[in-house]
Amino acid sequence: MAIPQSFIQELLARVDVVEVVGRYVQLKKGGANFMGLCPFHGEKSPSFSVSPAKQFFHCFGCGKNGNAIGFLMEHAGMTFIEAVKDLAQNIGMQVPEDDASPQDRARAAEQRQKQATLTDVLEKAGEAYRKHLRNSPKAIAYFKGRGLSGQIAKDFGLGYAPEGWRSLASVFPDYQDPLLAESGLVIVNQEDGEEEKRYDRFRDRVMFPIRNVKGECIGFGGRVLGEGTPKYLNSPETPVFSKGRELYGLFEARNALRDAGYVLVTEGYMDVVALAQLGFPNAVATLGTACTTDHVQKLFRFTDSVVFSFDGDGAGRRAARKALDGALPYATDVRSVKFLFLPAEHDPDSYIREFGKEAFAHCVTEAMPLSRFLIEVAREGCDLNTAEGRAHMASNAKPMWMALPDGALKRQLLSEIAELVDLGNHELQDLWMPAAPAAATARSGEFKKSSKFKPREPYAPKTYKRGTRLIPQGRADHAARVLLSHMDLWDDLSTEDHNLLCELAPPHGPLFVWLDQQHHEHGNQAWGALREGLREHESEELALRVMASAFTPLLDDEGKPMPESLTPEQQRKEAGLELRGILNKILFESLDAQMKEAIAEAAADPTAMQRYKALFERRKQLGLIPQKLVESHD
Ligand SMILES: [Zn+2]
Repeated sequence: MAIPQSFIQELLARVDVVEVVGRYVQLKKGGANFMGLCPFHGEKSPSFSVSPAKQFFHCFGCGKNGNAIGFLMEHAGMTFIEAVKDLAQNIGMQVPEDDASPQDRARAAEQRQKQATLTDVLEKAGEAYRKHLRNSPKAIAYFKGRGLSGQIAKDFGLGYAPEGWRSLASVFPDYQDPLLAESGLVIVNQEDGEEEKRYDRFRDRVMFPIRNVKGECIGFGGRVLGEGTPKYLNSPETPVFSKGRELYGLFEARNALRDAGYVLVTEGYMDVVALAQLGFPNAVATLGTACTTDHVQKLFRFTDSVVFSFDGDGAGRRAARKALDGALPYATDVRSVKFLFLPAEHDPDSYIREFGKEAFAHCVTEAMPLSRFLIEVAREGCDLNTAEGRAHMASNAKPMWMALPDGALKRQLLSEIAELVDLGNHELQDLWMPAAPAAATARSGEFKKSSKFKPREPYAPKTYKRGTRLIPQGRADHAARVLLSHMDLWDDLSTEDHNLLCELAPPHGPLFVWLDQQHHEHGNQAWGALREGLREHESEELALRVMASAFTPLLDDEGKPMPESLTPEQQRKEAGLELRGILNKILFESLDAQMKEAIAEAAADPTAMQRYKALFERRKQLGLIPQKLVESHD
């Protein structure tokens, strides 16, 4: 019987290894861990330690170690399946039935197959639209009129859907094929008593293929030529296309995001294409919807800095307000979120044409930080000269402030809001969070325990380059050990850090890529659950090797392990500092190597010097350059 690995991980996220071992071994709390006499070898003083944080047991005497399943197998002599069933029964989880899992697997395979078929159909239509563009002087004239070069049209795969109700019939010999309707290319209309009508959704429009992050075509946006309505028409929601999650241009912009250091979120696909033409290839657009938290989360997988650009009118302001709500939960201290408001009569395209590229770049640097926009939104319509007005502002600010992740930004904002509404920091905090903070933390710890393995919606994994970057192995091992022990630290890292780790040479890089995926799909897990998920993974051996030393304790005079003296919170904090230290070293070495490369190429490649300068700036930002050297460069 094959039990899905995700079930086993979920199970291990819910059971407590301390409780499971405690059924067989008398355990005593010693610091952050529990200690007892090892059940696997004879001993008189305890060397057997069980870690609730790692969800793992380890004996310093005989070296036996494992998670809850491993303990039941080793100590109670159960088979793997018996152990899983035993654990599941104790916490009321249903082990998937023998016959259910092949069925589920077949269903999942069928779904994947269907999605692949749909993208094939859309890809084929896109090809046809591109061909039609070459033969349509008016569509070419439209793009040329917007200043687009042939190269940009090619990069974005722009096309033209010709006039006529059934142009696609020449591309797809079977126009009745249900896939054409399912992919949104063909509309099927049937009214009472009438014959069914089928016709192309996109007619006489310039076409913008929408691609997912893997580069597959998942839908289209079409703009009318001339005056027809609607001006913009998008593919409907299909099994492969969801407006609330996809961003136009993300695939095309993915490399530029890294070079530019930020993403510009605009209002439409014409903005994206025009910006690419004008030297800003780092733009994306939502597809006729407000920016959602899903959009923001997706963007933060590619960059640490998001700049929302909106038209200066009322609609732009409302869209900005929605984007703010979407961004708040992700505005950690290592990220930057800004709002750019152009003058009411301008969009980015027209602004750059009138004032130039530099002026627009300047607007981007001067864009309003999230903290200021939040305050502006909160105080809107509140007269701060009256107690009522101040109270009103406080109540406006509360839900937004609460949505922010914990960190320095959140604390500073509390002070700022407190001052504006004429209250002390503590008064405002008491008002907003009446529960005693200590009790709240304890409770949230418990809550995490029961819900930490969240099956989230599967996401398209970010495609990391299979890494070739070599760094001293000890350093990469160290980072792996800290992150496998404290997976929640992954949240605190920037996209730059994530990229750095994920693009290390195997086996380290693939391990971090896997960890990133686990984090997105299931949230944080203890080592005991991660270990199970790593079975047969190419980096399993690495993970086991580095984690073996994660249990090395301090020994007392008799050579017995001393109890862990730090609380879990203190341990996490220490681990965070440790990780930052390692990452700074890795970052420094990586920048150093890239700078050397750039210098070596500078003679033959004029862009290399620019690259060198950008790298130097980054190193300066990180405070990784001696002051003397900075001065000599400035
Ligand atoms: Zn032992």
